Amino acid sequence: MAKKLARKKSAVKKTTRSSGPGLGSPARKYVYFFGAGKADGDRTMKELLGGKGSGLAEMTNAGLPVPPGFTISTEACTLYYQQKRKVPAYVDKQMLENLAKLEKAAGAKLGDVRNPLLVSVRSGAKFSMPGMMDTILNLGLNDETVEGLKARTNNGRFAYDSYRRFIQMFGNVVLEIPKDAFEHTLEAVKEEKKAHLDTDLDEAALREVVRRYKTVVRDRARRDFPQDPLEQLRGSRDAVFRSWNNARAIEYRRIYEIPDAIGTAVNVQAMVFGNTGDKSATGVGFTRNPATGAKEFYGEFLVNAQGEDVVAGIRTPQPIAELEKVLPKAFGELRRITTRLEKHYHDVQDFEFTIQDERLYMLQTRNGKRTGYAAVIIATDLVDEKLISPKEAVLQVDPESISQLLAPVFDPNAWKALPVATKGLPASPGAASGQVVFTADHAVEWTRQGKSVILVRKETVPDDIHGMFVAQGILTATGGMTSHAAVVGRQMGKPSIVGAGKLEIAEAARTVLVDGQRIKEGDYISFDGLSGEVKIGQVATKPSEILQVIAGEMKPGASDIYKRFERLLSYADKFRRLGIRANADQPDQAETAYAFGARGIGLCRTEHMFFGEGRIPIVQRMILADNESDRRRALAELLPLQRADFYGVFKAMHGTPVTIRTIDPPLHEFLPKREDLMVEIARMEEQGKKGKVLDEKQTLLRRVEQLHEFNPMLGHRGVRLGITYPEITEMQTRAIIEAACQLAKEGTKCVPEIMIPLVGHVKELRDQKAVVDRVAAEVMTEQSCKIKYLVGTMIEIPRGAATADEIASEAEFFSFGTNDLTQLTFGFSRDDIGKFLGSYQDKKILDKDPFATIDTIGVGQLVEMGVQKGRKARPGLKLGICGEHGGDPSSIHFFEKAGLDYVSCSPYRVPVARLAAAQAALQVKVGD
Ligand code: PEP
Ligand code: MG
Repeated sequence: MAKKLARKKSAVKKTTRSSGPGLGSPARKYVYFFGAGKADGDRTMKELLGGKGSGLAEMTNAGLPVPPGFTISTEACTLYYQQKRKVPAYVDKQMLENLAKLEKAAGAKLGDVRNPLLVSVRSGAKFSMPGMMDTILNLGLNDETVEGLKARTNNGRFAYDSYRRFIQMFGNVVLEIPKDAFEHTLEAVKEEKKAHLDTDLDEAALREVVRRYKTVVRDRARRDFPQDPLEQLRGSRDAVFRSWNNARAIEYRRIYEIPDAIGTAVNVQAMVFGNTGDKSATGVGFTRNPATGAKEFYGEFLVNAQGEDVVAGIRTPQPIAELEKVLPKAFGELRRITTRLEKHYHDVQDFEFTIQDERLYMLQTRNGKRTGYAAVIIATDLVDEKLISPKEAVLQVDPESISQLLAPVFDPNAWKALPVATKGLPASPGAASGQVVFTADHAVEWTRQGKSVILVRKETVPDDIHGMFVAQGILTATGGMTSHAAVVGRQMGKPSIVGAGKLEIAEAARTVLVDGQRIKEGDYISFDGLSGEVKIGQVATKPSEILQVIAGEMKPGASDIYKRFERLLSYADKFRRLGIRANADQPDQAETAYAFGARGIGLCRTEHMFFGEGRIPIVQRMILADNESDRRRALAELLPLQRADFYGVFKAMHGTPVTIRTIDPPLHEFLPKREDLMVEIARMEEQGKKGKVLDEKQTLLRRVEQLHEFNPMLGHRGVRLGITYPEITEMQTRAIIEAACQLAKEGTKCVPEIMIPLVGHVKELRDQKAVVDRVAAEVMTEQSCKIKYLVGTMIEIPRGAATADEIASEAEFFSFGTNDLTQLTFGFSRDDIGKFLGSYQDKKILDKDPFATIDTIGVGQLVEMGVQKGRKARPGLKLGICGEHGGDPSSIHFFEKAGLDYVSCSPYRVPVARLAAAQAALQVKVGD
């Protein structure tokens, strides 16, 4: 079978849509037959035939036992919607032609009273959307053919059971009668007949069910149940097309970012029956365990049942291994076929089968969905088994999914036992469980007492960093994927959910309301940072093995999953072009990043260093100084602290490049809140307090008021700070070069890259570069040490991108700050987007959060412009990206095309970025 087909990648490129006459032309092919060992389609035609249709075609061509049928293409679905929810007559005509072929292949005719053909009608889009769309079985039954089926099978019970199921499915899916109406009717008959299970109903009882079901249809749909099989077929086909746009399918596509326009195909296939008696069965399975990756035949089946019984949970299915005892011949064949399919598709298969009177039929096969953990196990096992190459292994694993391997884990059963209280944006993956605290100080205090806490805030501010650091997880009510909580949470590898808008936090009262439920400080909550689900109560967690290895608490050789994870990533490193760096501000973060495989720091946010122990008061003195000499005094105190930080970061990175950004955020972030000061002063005055402390508070308040800005994100920040207070740039340059000299003397070479933020005009950079060069020269003379360093800039202001050629005349490197570039291009505040992003997505104004996935059309165009103009002016210009998009797989594809040299992301995203960069290099080309 494998030989018959071209390899996957080239094949996908070759045929996706059928060629020939254009869409909408009657001469075009819309219906594809499969049966009697031959199919019109094959596995390369997923886009046109859907995953199910192309799988059925492929299995048919391979000579596997597949009941015959035909697939009405996704193009017919497009036409159905284009033509006001009507299937064009020429598509209908092709359907009838294929129906005739099917009747011939099956040796039965639709509607034939003596030998009726029964078919299933199922959806099947390019991407599997399990359970989202509709299915109809046993189509073709009516009051007459049911008797034909009874005579043919000599089984009246079976015939009437099939008929009642068909009426139920058709009634629900096509005539839109709620399921309950049928279920109540069935229950009533069961009660009257004292039947415990559906299978306890005999033929007479099922005839009664059919009679009552037809009454349900008449009452609810105001029409008789259609007896004409063609009317049944057309109605079912159209209902499947319609189900593409039911609410749950739309929601599923939104979550999994499946385009709305691709549509579904419809598969019409001769029925085989798993419910003809004890020698029949139906089931689903995987060739390997999709949760753990273990190489074991995995799945479930039911004897004497039809497909939907397995999923519906009416009877508990048996583990597939037991099929060997019940129906050994069919089981053996199923094992042989599925092993062959796995070899053929070079991947784990998720399959559906039916056994009718001991004969096995395959109804579906597709690549199985799996957890991140299973993905790594399976990919490495398949390489060892020589089923796939390292390149295929790299392409097989979803980069996003491997971050699951780093997250602390919940006990799955305990997690499932609690209901979901609310949902937010999944900012940083991982399981978090602990007692609610509402302030960073409490987080620290409670942690000191040995408690595990979850920091719940309306939003976090840089001042909360100490609380965020100790908390098990961070949960905020506002903010988007690049809000402070999200950025810092990811950087720390801390589970975080942001923008959980249903949380009504009353900080003063120390309570939070969620949908009417009140949670007090100290109550337990748990959340899953990967799904965004929050639950009330405690669930036990533990760190993942990989993190234990990275932290040096476990030997790499002792962890099987670590070894596999690293092996997969080392394959990825062979194929990627993009360099991978990390955003890290502290030596320990840099060490983690290095251990994860980052080879360089793309962004060290120096202002984050100012929040370290004992530094805030010095920083406040620097800001509050109203003259240069006071400011310099404070800066002199900061110098040794910053130097030690830089030394630590350089050392942790073992001579790989380190980009250090001069101070960026608005100064007010370092000062106490105006309102808090006012309250304190009022309280002191009320208590009659006077003297130095009160005076100092009042001076502080005045300065805080002076520094107040209406629009701090557009205010006195970035390069503007260095321009007004060059002594800050001087101190930071000195600290950087002194640290590099110290290391050089110890024998470690490092090349600092000094980066000036928020530059929109070349003269801003020129001004600051002069300061950096002057101070660097001074330090090198003092230290008698020569250091190679670079001066560059962030491109994060649209004007910076537009004048990148001018800026490149001064800059030796660019790093695209896509957080601010997105903020300034859209004019969306990165900290407030959480308030309206949901509505934008609901109304389809935006598909994705532009702070999480780069907006290639707008913001991306500015990046491309920056690259092109920058490289033209300075051919050797080094180009990177350090916004949050640097860790997002689809954005990494864009950066590969744009021809950047590296991406930089938070330390815990480094593995994801390594894998995504390799996939990008294998799938797209620079300049595409
Ligand atoms: C950016 O704007 O993309 C960036 C990396 O800088 P920051 O997030 O610190 O503003
Ligand atoms: Mg920025």
